[in-house]
Amino acid sequence: MAEVNPTLTLASERRTQSFEERRASFQRLFFMGCFAWPPFAVLDVLGAEIWHHQRAIPALLSVRVVGEVLAVTLYAAVRWGNLTPRALTVLDYVAWVLNATRGYAVKIVNPGGVELWKRNVREIKTLDDPVGDARVTPRRILETLTDAANALKLPHPVHIHCNNLGLPGNIAMTLDSMRAVEGRRAHFTHLQFQSYGAPWHSEAKQIAEYFATHPEVSGDVGQVMFGAATTLTADGAVEYMLHKSSGKKWVNADIELETGCGIVPYVYKDTAAVAALQWVVGLELFLLSPDPWRMVLSTDHPNGGSFMSYPELIHLLMDRTYRDARLKTINQKYLAGSALADGLAREYTLGEIAIITRAGPARQLGLANKGHLGVGADADVTVYAREADISHMFATPRYVVKAGALVVEEGQLRRAPRGARHSVAPGYDAAVERDLKAYFDKYSTVAFENYAVAAPS
Ligand SMILES: [Zn+2]
Repeated sequence: MAEVNPTLTLASERRTQSFEERRASFQRLFFMGCFAWPPFAVLDVLGAEIWHHQRAIPALLSVRVVGEVLAVTLYAAVRWGNLTPRALTVLDYVAWVLNATRGYAVKIVNPGGVELWKRNVREIKTLDDPVGDARVTPRRILETLTDAANALKLPHPVHIHCNNLGLPGNIAMTLDSMRAVEGRRAHFTHLQFQSYGAPWHSEAKQIAEYFATHPEVSGDVGQVMFGAATTLTADGAVEYMLHKSSGKKWVNADIELETGCGIVPYVYKDTAAVAALQWVVGLELFLLSPDPWRMVLSTDHPNGGSFMSYPELIHLLMDRTYRDARLKTINQKYLAGSALADGLAREYTLGEIAIITRAGPARQLGLANKGHLGVGADADVTVYAREADISHMFATPRYVVKAGALVVEEGQLRRAPRGARHSVAPGYDAAVERDLKAYFDKYSTVAFENYAVAAPS
């Protein structure tokens, strides 16, 4: 299998970034020091006047100035010393994990929530809920990893699966999470599962509004499609909830106390009130979001539905008549006041479909050779014959060309070439391995030396 391995930041570049942080911090302290002394100086002068020691004023003021300079310098020196190792350690740790796991991006799943769930806390109330230690909170996890992914200049920004997925009223937590990393590049995944009001109703409009004013964020919808699905996630809390609510069998595995990966089979029925609302929320995210480059198509395969249902999803987006007819047949209990129920005229053009399924995801993933037909692209081309039945047209491409090789011809699969495996290998300071080895020795059943995934031969 081919290995795609973009060259990334070196330790020296990260040291510069850390130096910048220190310089900015020092500057802030300096200005604080400058503006802190006048009130004390006024008190010195007033005191001297009241007790008739005017001759002491120059000496008092000199002591005050020297004291201020000493205090600011000492405090800044301590902060300077603290800042460097911490900033470097986080970056080194993230870079090391990406190398060891041959990962491509950082995904944050239910930050802090899975750990709390294992301690019998079912729902995170705020981003500032402590996770065991008061210094660790969902907010700190989001900030730290978002900054680390951006500082390492990873091709895909941090990929965030917010807290309280699937729960009514989770829109507040979703928007708080977005604001927590405001101004920084971040991708929010399967947003449909994160856009509910309480009691159950759609809040997709609020997400679309946030996206309209924040060009730094991207997202994917995670559309629910009616029929059988397999829920499969590292969000152990969600799997337990689905197991309890559906009565379906639940498998959960905890790997080295880092997370819990669970599986629960599931069926989204159009007669079920919540599933019908989920279907509507997803379509609203597509139809209300202003920029198809930043709100791309997904069913969170296989969680909201299989990728086999993409043709029908595209049909729903391109054809209002088809969509409105389907809307009438589903459970209406929680749909009152939703934008889709009130009527949404938007129909996606073929160009917009190409963006939400190809060009947009390629751009969000930082894959320069994918999602376009320009010079240097990978020659991945799908050719459809125009048909009135959009679902059928997208389910039966006439030709599929993958990296220049013909894969599908007249609806027949000719060959199944293997794709490339993508990973990143950012540089890190090897000193971090000493601390990690100590951690593994203390807490892990896997030896540090056995943890990393071997390079493909
Ligand atoms: Zn997820």
